[in-house]
Amino acid sequence: AAKAEGRRTYRYFMPEMDVKAKARHELATELKRAVTEHDFRLHFQPLVDLNSGTIAGCEALLRWQHPVRGFVSPAEFIPLAEDIGLIEDLGEWVLDQACRVAVGWPASMTVAVNVSPIQFRRATFPLKVAAALARTGLAAHRLELEITEALLLQDNESTLAILNQLRDLGVKIALDDFGTGYSSLSYLHRFPIDKIKIDKSFVDTLTEEAGSATIVRAIVQIAAAGNKTTLAEGVETAAQRDLLRHLGCQQMQGYLFSPALPEDALARLIGNTDAETQTAPRRAPASV
Ligand code: C2E
Ligand code: MG
Ligand code: MG
Ligand code: MG
Repeated sequence: AAKAEGRRTYRYFMPEMDVKAKARHELATELKRAVTEHDFRLHFQPLVDLNSGTIAGCEALLRWQHPVRGFVSPAEFIPLAEDIGLIEDLGEWVLDQACRVAVGWPASMTVAVNVSPIQFRRATFPLKVAAALARTGLAAHRLELEITEALLLQDNESTLAILNQLRDLGVKIALDDFGTGYSSLSYLHRFPIDKIKIDKSFVDTLTEEAGSATIVRAIVQIAAAGNKTTLAEGVETAAQRDLLRHLGCQQMQGYLFSPALPEDALARLIGNTDAETQTAPRRAPASV
């Protein structure tokens, strides 16, 4: 009976799995073509200094504008690109493009680039980073690489070796979505990390749940003890911004200030449309 039932289940499941597998296969084929044809754009979201209101830098966020499907979220295609072996080519393009754009910004501004664990773990990754800096002429200290907590948990030795090579190059390292992984706060001091990006989930509940403020305060204090910068992700309200400032957080990123913008819109925002005025970015609007 079990066998018959199993077979029946199998028969009922198969068509649906077929549809999903087929859709995934189609998306994979299109993603391959998009990578070959560089069918992507980078948008840039400002990272704002909470005390001065100035733009300290921007995070480069990948956009795929599909001719038929429209906008496909990176949350959907990045994992797929990782699965089908495309993330290294894609990641290299992102790195190069982000550096190329950032060279045109005021020298005080940094550019943050998300790095997939697969990309990061390659022994050649530091060489690729050095090559992108050399090609584009971006100063190493203006590049910030965003990695995730999961990297710190697996294979400590090689992760540490790569992080040290990157530090030797002079690039900065940020820990993305902090608090969502499984690493403990004690991990923070074992690795050469310059910035901690406190995940949006803590910011979302900040003004309602006392527990979130307590966690943010703890992260900020531990980061400060290790000379690390803290940034809060996904700040959407003035109340969140005010509380974060009060808790000692140094930077914020979120729709309250600006979503990710195309290159030209960002250039207008930072008041850098004149090529000759390579000055510090303007103060953020008074409302933010
Ligand atoms: P992330 O690195 O944590 O990037 C922040 C995400 O939060 C972005 O989503 C951004 O648009 C969104 N966000 C920023 N402020 C707010 C806010 O106030 N409210 C809300 N609701 N959302 C906000 P996006 O661009 O869809 O990217 C999603 C994720 O995809 C990124 O999360 C990152 O993990 C990944 N990703 C994006 N670009 C790349 C890339 O070039 N390479 C790799 N490996 N991953 C990327
Ligand atoms: Mg990020
Ligand atoms: Mg993030
Ligand atoms: Mg996030």
